[in-house]
Amino acid sequence: MSYIEGVAREQQVLLPEVLDEYVTAENPVRFIDAFVASLDLAALGFPRAMAAATGRPAYDPGDLLRLYIYGYLYRLRSSRKLEPETHRNIELLWLLRKLTPDFKTIADFRRDNPQALKAVCREFTLLCKRLDLFAGELEAIDGSKFRAVNSRSRNFTRAGLERLLRGIEVRVAEYLSGLDTQDQAETSTPTPSAAALQQKIDALRVRQGEYAALLAQLEASGETQISLTDPESRSRKVRGGVDVCYNVQTAVDAKHKLIVAHDVTNAATDRDCLSPMANAANDVLGSAHLQVIADRGYYNGPEITACQDLGITPTVPRPITSANAKHGLFTKDDFTYQAAPDTYRCPAGETLTYRFSTVEQGRGMRYYGTSACGRCGLKARCTRNKGSRRITRWVDEGVLDAMEQRLKEHPELRTRRTAIVEHPFGTMKRWMDQGYFLMRGLVKTRTEFSLTVLAYNLKRVINLVGVPRMIAALP
Ligand code: SF4
Repeated sequence: MSYIEGVAREQQVLLPEVLDEYVTAENPVRFIDAFVASLDLAALGFPRAMAAATGRPAYDPGDLLRLYIYGYLYRLRSSRKLEPETHRNIELLWLLRKLTPDFKTIADFRRDNPQALKAVCREFTLLCKRLDLFAGELEAIDGSKFRAVNSRSRNFTRAGLERLLRGIEVRVAEYLSGLDTQDQAETSTPTPSAAALQQKIDALRVRQGEYAALLAQLEASGETQISLTDPESRSRKVRGGVDVCYNVQTAVDAKHKLIVAHDVTNAATDRDCLSPMANAANDVLGSAHLQVIADRGYYNGPEITACQDLGITPTVPRPITSANAKHGLFTKDDFTYQAAPDTYRCPAGETLTYRFSTVEQGRGMRYYGTSACGRCGLKARCTRNKGSRRITRWVDEGVLDAMEQRLKEHPELRTRRTAIVEHPFGTMKRWMDQGYFLMRGLVKTRTEFSLTVLAYNLKRVINLVGVPRMIAALP
């Protein structure tokens, strides 16, 4: 028994004479080629869409766009990886008609066309809509952290810098005391260690100056942290620790888990991302009955009312943040709101009436209370205050109550949300190996993520529809 044998390298073979015969009708490169050919590149914002009348001929932006779409689809994102592929990859030889741009030309194209590349991604989303691949009824919104081009050792918080400066002071004091000891010692032997100590002190003083300058820069900017390699990236908690990242947002349609809208921010949390993402999704879908669902991280009253104002129905579970719950005391959930008299009923059966209003962080808040707390037998389980228990209510809290009721009536929405949004992020991070950025700054990372989203959607639609039907749907 022997192994399966390959063909001898010296053997002459009859290869097809036409390059086109190497590429089957189902090959994705055929769609990439037809898709780019269907685009109005000048209208999308590619500045070199029209060839210059004079000078050395440039590469057609359509060809460089074909190269990038292919690269992101097949995990070849860097220009230095793409360049050799144009020489040896038969699909790219076909797609680019044997053009072989150098890595600098490839890199410049992505750097110089951020808005246009984002517009190309949107054009593909609109094609998905034409193919009836969006239900346009339920969108799941979620965020994830994608690593930035900035190591943790080059990111500093105010507290971290202060800790480093304190550490330097302690070490300098130790070295100075070592120098004093050597001065007092009666010895005729040379003291090279004193010179070495002085050298260490000088090095520490230099570092101290650098940290102090960073701290001053932080205080002047009003920011809480500073990143040296990619100044717009931020250190964030991720699963398993802390990393310097960007906050990537997606709105995913429930029908085929295709991404309808996306964005990249450096926001610390998702609290302010609900209505912008819901609005961006509805902008594409144009749905009259759009429902969006997100996790607890998006729970933010003004954002939820903003969705309602846009005609979008949001569903976000209420987070458990009550300090009273941690102390084993009654939480607000134990108090029942009665809309008609505008009062709360407490666990002891007493009525809490409206007392006064305030504005807190731009939100109107109403306070409710009762004079019965002083003689209440449940007070020890209700409040740690000497006075009465107060209940606060946001002026638009009726919106949150209605949302909670919706979630109670449809508990399956929580599991649906997880099933919808985790597929794209899982695919992008694992299968596509694109859970980190290669470029710096918000503008460039947004460009990169647009190409990642385009590749994700493209791969999924190829599986769903097939290349010939996709080509047939092009304008
Ligand atoms: S302490 Fe006041 S609010 Fe709390 S249960 Fe007693 S009466 Fe009600």
